[in-house]
Amino acid sequence: MQAPLPKPWIMDIAPYVPGRSKTDDGRQVAKLSSNENPLGTSPAAREAFDAARASLDRYPDAGAAMLREAIAAAHGLDPARVIYGTGSDEVLHLAAGAFAGPGDEIIFVRYGFAVYEIATRRVGATPVVAPDKDYATDVDAILDRVTPATRVVFVANPNNPTGTFAARDEIARLHAGLPKSVLLVIDQAYAEYIDADEDDRGLAMAADEPNVLVTRTFSKIHGLAAERIGWGYASADIIDAMHRIRAPFNVTTAGQAAAVAALAATDFVDASRRHNAEWREWFAAEIGKLGNAGLRAVPSKANFVLVLFEGPVSAEHAYKALMDAGYIVRWLPGQGLPHGLRVSIGTAEETQGVLAAIRAIVGG
Ligand SMILES: *Cc1c(COP(=O)(O)O)cnc(C)c1O
Repeated sequence: MQAPLPKPWIMDIAPYVPGRSKTDDGRQVAKLSSNENPLGTSPAAREAFDAARASLDRYPDAGAAMLREAIAAAHGLDPARVIYGTGSDEVLHLAAGAFAGPGDEIIFVRYGFAVYEIATRRVGATPVVAPDKDYATDVDAILDRVTPATRVVFVANPNNPTGTFAARDEIARLHAGLPKSVLLVIDQAYAEYIDADEDDRGLAMAADEPNVLVTRTFSKIHGLAAERIGWGYASADIIDAMHRIRAPFNVTTAGQAAAVAALAATDFVDASRRHNAEWREWFAAEIGKLGNAGLRAVPSKANFVLVLFEGPVSAEHAYKALMDAGYIVRWLPGQGLPHGLRVSIGTAEETQGVLAAIRAIVGG
């Protein structure tokens, strides 16, 4: 007798590989592999999370009303058009699930966020990969790959794992070049790390255009990665379609409460942005001094830096040696980056420490 067979496109999915928190021999070391906030989370968010224990026995608010109101108030949006997910990962899956299926195409960039390919294959759609321009999003390469079968374009801005950022005129050019029938998803998981005057205007586009979805997360600058809360903004029709396939109670009570508190903790967010900018610039500049050892930092606007190893010492060797030295970073051979290490910006001590370790490994 034949056992149940998964759909063939499901077995084509390469499972997501999360950032590690322990070494091969089980030691807990500095975790610079998942782009978490080294300052933790705001005290107000932690308090709100703790207070939610009183309602542990009740289902969460399925409509996430307070969370939607808080998001809308913080960004000047219509609360009815805010969708929420178990992390923005779920919102990305909802977008693919509501707008694409077998026979349809979804475009994303080479060295794009790993979830896009999973979300595409999960619904039986065909992934279409647009080549990069020195690791950055190439708008022309994306537009060149649009066909009548294209349903969705995923762009992370800044992008993960490269950290690269497409300026607002590039994002506008991408949108202008797409048919209105194609959903443009602008994944802004790292938007809070961008200076306000450099904003790519994704939320304004999502407010005005019939085919733009912006996604955001509480996992990165807000430091709520454990609670899995993300959200999205788009036209009422797009949001309505996504709600139809959303799991009914997809965001927890404690997570909703913590996220509402996190939005009000603007001092914590500002301090996190400043810390990140200061140490990211320092780290990238120090990597730049190791150019004679073949190292190069891809310009980043996010909370991590992709370091390329183009000299005699390989990224794989450095990855293992860093683990021995007490630092776990992200080596991404499965994403076409066997020559790169993505290093999250940690505390001052961690960032200085990982740089010293890298310098020792490459003999700089
Ligand atoms: C981290 C990340 C997300 C998802 O985070 P969630 O924890 O699921 O909200 C989405 N997109 C990009 C590009 C990311 O790096």
